[in-house]
Amino acid sequence: MKEKLLEITDLHAGVEGKEILKGVSLSVNKGEVHVILGPNGSGKSTLMNVIMGHPGYRVAKGGIFFEGRDISGLKPFERARLGIFLSFQAPEEIPGVTVENMLRMAREAVTGKHERIFAFRRELKETMKTLQMDPSYSERYLNVGFSGGEKKRNEILQLLMLRPKLALLDETDSGLDVDAVQIVSGGVSRFHNEDNACLIITHNTRILEKLKADRVHVLLDGTIAEEGGPELIEAINREGYAQLR
Ligand code: ADP
Ligand code: MG
Repeated sequence: MKEKLLEITDLHAGVEGKEILKGVSLSVNKGEVHVILGPNGSGKSTLMNVIMGHPGYRVAKGGIFFEGRDISGLKPFERARLGIFLSFQAPEEIPGVTVENMLRMAREAVTGKHERIFAFRRELKETMKTLQMDPSYSERYLNVGFSGGEKKRNEILQLLMLRPKLALLDETDSGLDVDAVQIVSGGVSRFHNEDNACLIITHNTRILEKLKADRVHVLLDGTIAEEGGPELIEAINREGYAQLR
């Protein structure tokens, strides 16, 4: 019996005056990779943001459970501490905070343990090497002047350094060239193991080359319109979303 990590039940959520998610239910076990597909504007990013506790969204109904505990009242940092990680569709630039400092602070905040600078730096350099990132990036301000692809790669660096239990990846592969998608996909597959899970929003099946999708959910206008195994990805690629409407 697999251990349940995330459970969402009949989730209704949105912004002031607008319902975006209209009854989403979803369950992710440890060790699994789930993929969320859906046309632009169907509510995919909203779902990720609501799971992470983004204050801009309001949950009107339904529950979000993480390891059996209702987390819907928790702040984003409290959810991060429980082991939830969100990689943004459009990562923010943070002038004045270097990549290394941000990562060290984030890991200390999540684990509650002091990081020894030299050991941390060594691990960071090694991890950056696996993502083919130049070591000089660790001294640069977070995402400032980074290309789209570098920002996405930096999100995977965060994933590998923070080692959450649940990785929410919102189009981490979009806008990347073929080689960069391979690197991102390799990074996610290095992260993934039997004790964690990934929920991946993508339009590009290449990110799944190094990962086996256990379950696919298609979001259409704020509801799950279809669910299935990896074969659903092929069907959508072939026939589009129109058949599901
Ligand atoms: P997706 O990620 O599937 O493309 P989103 O979750 O970003 O879709 O958006 C779903 C819908 O909700 C869109 O119509 C979008 O304009 C709207 N929406 C999302 N966030 C906000 C917000 N903060 N304020 C107003 N509308 C929003
Ligand atoms: Mg989106």
